[in-house]
Amino acid sequence: MGEDVGMYHDLGLRSIVNAVGPATRLGGLPLSATVLAAMSEAVAANVRMDELEEAAGAELARLLGVPAVYVTSGASAALTLAVATCVAGTRPGAIEALPFSAAGRRVIVQHAHRDPYDHAITAVGVTLTEIGYPGSTYPDELARELDDSVAAVLWRPGREGELLSLRTVAELAGSAGVLVVVDAAMDAPPVDRLQQLVSDGADLIAISGGKAFRGPHTAGLLCGNADLVAAVALHHQDMDIRAQTWQPSEITGAQPLRGRHGLGRGMKVGREQIAGMLAAVREFVTEPTRWDAHYASELADCAAKLTQCPTLSVAHGRNDHLNVPVLEIGLPGGPPEADRIVRLLDAGEPRIHVDEGAAWRGVLTINPMGLHPGEGTVVGQRIAEIIMSADHTEGP
Ligand SMILES: *Cc1c(COP(=O)(O)O)cnc(C)c1O
Repeated sequence: MGEDVGMYHDLGLRSIVNAVGPATRLGGLPLSATVLAAMSEAVAANVRMDELEEAAGAELARLLGVPAVYVTSGASAALTLAVATCVAGTRPGAIEALPFSAAGRRVIVQHAHRDPYDHAITAVGVTLTEIGYPGSTYPDELARELDDSVAAVLWRPGREGELLSLRTVAELAGSAGVLVVVDAAMDAPPVDRLQQLVSDGADLIAISGGKAFRGPHTAGLLCGNADLVAAVALHHQDMDIRAQTWQPSEITGAQPLRGRHGLGRGMKVGREQIAGMLAAVREFVTEPTRWDAHYASELADCAAKLTQCPTLSVAHGRNDHLNVPVLEIGLPGGPPEADRIVRLLDAGEPRIHVDEGAAWRGVLTINPMGLHPGEGTVVGQRIAEIIMSADHTEGP
């Protein structure tokens, strides 16, 4: 079971059994002892943050088999920094003037690739131009948009339809001198999927640190080539330093990057996030399957409790983005019953949150990533109790 955290209790908060997975609204996933140890070790001393980014980035790039990596405060921040870099590059005037220096600049996106996280793109000051329909986009529709106003093409994996592949997008954009930004927040790891994005021609790839890598949920990675990653730093680091005294990097020998306060200044990353991210990736790469048995047993325990309720249809499924198994619980009462159960789980003891992404079709999903040992049973038992209690009414 998750620990009964005294600090939260003292504040009058009830802790939550997290059957949603890596949800920002619940504070992310539990961190492993190794990740937590790295985070607390990192804050014991100061370092130059530009050198820490360079050194950690080089190690992350080696571990992941990609050209270069920059640690951000999440995939959303990575997208903003990526687009800021596509718009303003390394030019101090343009960097300083963002988002206004992005006026008239556009990012092209397939209609089927739109996402709530598009705010991270438009925050830079660009406008989004949609091409195609929900189920299809054709190559000429991209080719005809690629003029000087285009700062980047945004691409997202795992969308269904007759859509433009990353390879096609990269070929067309590349021949027009336009960079391709990929939002793989939820889709990497697996590491080979990330490497495929690089070989298909992605220039900058945003990844969430707190999703399947199980790093700090206020961390993320931006992968790209060394020049692009160096430019990203100019938009991000608080380098209000003096050229007379700030020495070249002891890691790369590079002259100091004197980005001052770019658009990314509000997305700063702590030593502990960088160290935690590095530890999480190391742990993942060393043993990519280390969580599989835990996930399987929590879901099996949950399913076993639900066999008490013959009216439910319980199916083992998979979240292909996160690459984890899930349990799908179909409710005979459809969406109204799903919504009622979600509310009762939240109001009950322990307080439980499940994934309600499919509640609109009467299905509640159990994602095991945030469950502590034994909590699969607790979730299954609570749902069974609610289903079997004759009285489904809510509240006093
Ligand atoms: C989760 C997610 C993000 C944001 O990731 P953070 O690390 O939480 O900032 C961006 N894009 C997509 C598609 C996501 O699923």
